[in-house]
Amino acid sequence: MVSPNLTDYTSVASGFSWDREQAGLSGLPDKQGLNIAHEAIDRHASGELQNHTAFRFIHKDLSVMDCSYQDFKELTNRFANVLGNLGISKGDRVFSFLGRIPELYFAALGTLKKVAVFCPLFNVFGPDPVFQRLSRGDAKVLVTTHDLFEKKVRPLLERLPELKYVLLTDVDHDESEQIRSLPRLMEQASEEFTIPPTDPEDPALLHFTSGTTGMPKGALHVHKAVLVHYVTGKYVLDFHPGDVYWCTADPGWVTGTSYGIIAPLVNGVTNLVDEEEFDATRWYSILEREKVNIWYTAPTGIRRLMRMNVIPREKYNLEHLRLMLSVGEPLHAEAVVWGEKNFGMPFLDNWWQTETGGIMIANYRAMPVRPGSMGKPLPGVEAAIAEVTDDSFTLIDELDKDGHLVLKRGWPSMFRTYLHDEERYSKSFRGDWYITGDLARRDADGYYWFVGRADDIIKTSGHMVGPFEVESALMEHPAVADAAVIGKPDPLIGELVKAFVVLQPGQQQDESMKTDITAHARRKLGPAVAPKEITFIDNLPKTRSGKILRRLLKARELGLPEGDTSTLEQP
Ligand code: AMP
Repeated sequence: MVSPNLTDYTSVASGFSWDREQAGLSGLPDKQGLNIAHEAIDRHASGELQNHTAFRFIHKDLSVMDCSYQDFKELTNRFANVLGNLGISKGDRVFSFLGRIPELYFAALGTLKKVAVFCPLFNVFGPDPVFQRLSRGDAKVLVTTHDLFEKKVRPLLERLPELKYVLLTDVDHDESEQIRSLPRLMEQASEEFTIPPTDPEDPALLHFTSGTTGMPKGALHVHKAVLVHYVTGKYVLDFHPGDVYWCTADPGWVTGTSYGIIAPLVNGVTNLVDEEEFDATRWYSILEREKVNIWYTAPTGIRRLMRMNVIPREKYNLEHLRLMLSVGEPLHAEAVVWGEKNFGMPFLDNWWQTETGGIMIANYRAMPVRPGSMGKPLPGVEAAIAEVTDDSFTLIDELDKDGHLVLKRGWPSMFRTYLHDEERYSKSFRGDWYITGDLARRDADGYYWFVGRADDIIKTSGHMVGPFEVESALMEHPAVADAAVIGKPDPLIGELVKAFVVLQPGQQQDESMKTDITAHARRKLGPAVAPKEITFIDNLPKTRSGKILRRLLKARELGLPEGDTSTLEQP
């Protein structure tokens, strides 16, 4: 087993410097700046990794297509030339609305070569969220399939005057000046391209946040973000030469871009892309067949696997698996322990968000895992807990105290603005500190523990109750498969804790089950914190990145409008 890149957290963190880490990147030739696509593709294509597999695409029928770093250099060069031939220039916004097919990946990196801005959309969005994002993001180019275009985009065209070109991945002929065949344009384009000078502060990626709180916001990231992708790839994902890596996230969510495209390529490993959606047997088979070394996934998937009666390491040969990581929502202690028992290693939780552009808090391979904790700040990142009100901001030194999770401004992948919303952007900072919108606490050894979203916190009889804490306790009941907790307004105690519970298959949804779960929660949490109401539900509303839409449950409970549901995953 290869030894971890980060063997001693404390010494790496104390001696860390972003400037020194920059030496792991090459920069554009002749000191022409820093470009993500050069770091991810071109420098490897002209070096030892030229013929190494950059991408292995697993098609729906499980057949594969491999692309070497050199193949990908040519494809991305062609795409950059396609954009140039259409008059697209620096800063213009290029959107994709695709499944996880090769076109999405070469469009992303080809756009970055052109120093245009790339914005990937989930292909399951309906017309409204697509329209909202294309128009708020000033899309000039959209890359999509014929089917998606006909079903969801064509009716919007009149309302999108800025959208100059729609490039269809699967048609042979142009329909009009505006609606073009991508294969034809690719064929006509040269495979030679020189990346123009790129300022590290040039915009590169636009990601709309998941919308769990209010309307989607477009967070803009710059080329310099690649330094965080490189460093987290090295220290958190622990990439080593020859590794096969699989990130299950879709690039429509920031994880699928930062860690499903950039970080693995910058670190020169082989990046698996599965075109299919979750399927437990398929996932296990891919881990086995592809000899995956590093697997980055999310709690929803893990919990689905936990619901099955399969002990993976008994049924599958997973001897190549070295590291399993999770992000996107709280990873309950139970899931970490389940990983240890059933895979022989824990799931390592890490924390970050669209705005941070890369992993900020993590459990590291060489650091003892505390199940239920998000871990410690990335070397180079300063995190803290603060008390924040409309007109005050105070850092909390006290340990084990709930407060706002804040980050000291200045890490390279920090978002640079919310598009068209500078005011909202500046409101996310207090002086040097970025307010993440999450509540957390820090223990005596510097581990961070997630408490909840700032706006999900429940105040009941004067007590602050984090839904995550209650959900974790409910999940420990053997009959419970999934749980979400909201605060329901109550005239007497402010809010009462209400739980929505999904039972394991075959369990009875009856009063005696409710009594049993309530007794279990009271025992675990005490009567002030345990749910006062339980409702059984077949599926929890979640975003496609796996976050429970508690505000949606709350709106439904209270008969209020449901608000923006564009990121809702359909069961
Ligand atoms: P997004 O911008 O869609 O990736 O969502 C980011 C939000 O997801 C964070 O602000 C957290 O609320 C949540 N999140 C991400 N990772 C974790 C984690 N490891 N534990 C708990 N919550 C997380």
